[in-house]
Amino acid sequence: MNSALPLEPLARIRIVLSRPSHPGNIGAAARAMKTMGLTRLTLVAPKLFPHPDAEARASGAVDVLAQAVVCATLAEALTGTVLVAGMSARRRDLAAPFRWAREGAAELLAAVQPRSQQGARMNEVALVFGTEAAGLSNDDLALCHFPVMIPANPEYSSLNLGSAVQLMCYELRLAAASPGLPPSSDADLATTEEIEGFHEHLERVAVASGFLDPTQPKRLMHRLRRLFGRVRLEHDEVSILRGLLTTVEKPKYRKKS
Ligand code: SAH
Repeated sequence: MNSALPLEPLARIRIVLSRPSHPGNIGAAARAMKTMGLTRLTLVAPKLFPHPDAEARASGAVDVLAQAVVCATLAEALTGTVLVAGMSARRRDLAAPFRWAREGAAELLAAVQPRSQQGARMNEVALVFGTEAAGLSNDDLALCHFPVMIPANPEYSSLNLGSAVQLMCYELRLAAASPGLPPSSDADLATTEEIEGFHEHLERVAVASGFLDPTQPKRLMHRLRRLFGRVRLEHDEVSILRGLLTTVEKPKYRKKS
């Protein structure tokens, strides 16, 4: 690869490690990222960080560790992103249709390609990895637009966390180098926090209207997340939906009790 590659988009991809237990894996992830030209590492509630094992495994990538952002929750780590993919070694019931590693990387890259419209927002995206022992929780995956799987031996498909990060960073670098990726549309995509605000509003209205039983909320809300996750909602579309919900919340539409 030569230095003329359009690698700037890689700087707008966050690698997010959700609740990593082993600091060595955090260091390995930093090294994996730097070798492929990624720099933005975000850690959600790491068990041990900073830690000498992380620095030892990062080797020449201690700068990536030093710039790592530490967050308390995954939602916080995803602030400002317009597309989020979650790495999972297992198929999940209620998740959106999964992508293989190569397709997932290409889709993330397409979302961070520079767009034609002058002054359009620069999109940021995230790729989320789960904790070593248990992987991503279903609630974590619900914050992702789609799950991504690395094709592996079906009898033993769980890679070491650092290895999974290495492989995906390599795929992202390849995707950045491939010509002809269509840039995403000029429309401003909704950010993760706008989508979360919409889902919270939708749940409130669903409960207040009597449509949703608040003692059994999870499955329906996961189905609705899956539905809206399949389309890339734009900022203006979320405003329309929120406007509709606000109207429905007015007293004359409320359930008579
Ligand atoms: N034991 C966990 C996997 C932990 S591996 C489980 O069964 O889910 C740590 C993380 O690396 C996973 O959460 C996932 O984000 C990533 N990972 C490992 N192997 C993967 C694979 N084959 N496909 C996608 N992600 C994988």
